[in-house]
Amino acid sequence: MILDLTPVVNFEGKKMDLDVQLDFKNAEDTGLKFLKPVSLKGTLLNIGGSLELSASIVALLEFDCDRCCESLSEEFEGEFTEILRKEDIGADDKNPDAIYYQGNSLDLDDIVLNNIILQLPSKHLCREDCKGLCPTCGKNLNLGECDCESTPTDPRFDVLDSLLGD
Ligand SMILES: [Zn+2]
Ligand SMILES: [Zn+2]
Repeated sequence: MILDLTPVVNFEGKKMDLDVQLDFKNAEDTGLKFLKPVSLKGTLLNIGGSLELSASIVALLEFDCDRCCESLSEEFEGEFTEILRKEDIGADDKNPDAIYYQGNSLDLDDIVLNNIILQLPSKHLCREDCKGLCPTCGKNLNLGECDCESTPTDPRFDVLDSLLGD
């Protein structure tokens, strides 16, 4: 979504509220699958010529469980603040922490997507106590026990097992 910055860009101290939905249906190249539009709420404030964008994000994503590989939906909530500056062609004092925009418009999609990627947890479980797949037969143990020998959880039993054989 391209945001028109005209209402705040030339007025120091001016504030603009944001409450938008961003559609990332086509964000497959990020490896993320969004189940519904991302909600973005926040403010855009002109401070001394720079714009400060503070916002909260709510998203619903689909992942595969790390243990049992079943797909799961996970809500993500995050917050971020970014400093936005107008691209000044020829200026060499660029602030590496700032985001530069051209003209009076800002592409919100990249900013929001980047913040989601940065803040997403790296582990995804369908539930806290997901039992995962049986290493022997591959059955999803959340759906019930399989007929394989029970898998010991204490590593000391592994030694016993290998001594006794199968
Ligand atoms: Zn699972
Ligand atoms: Zn099994």
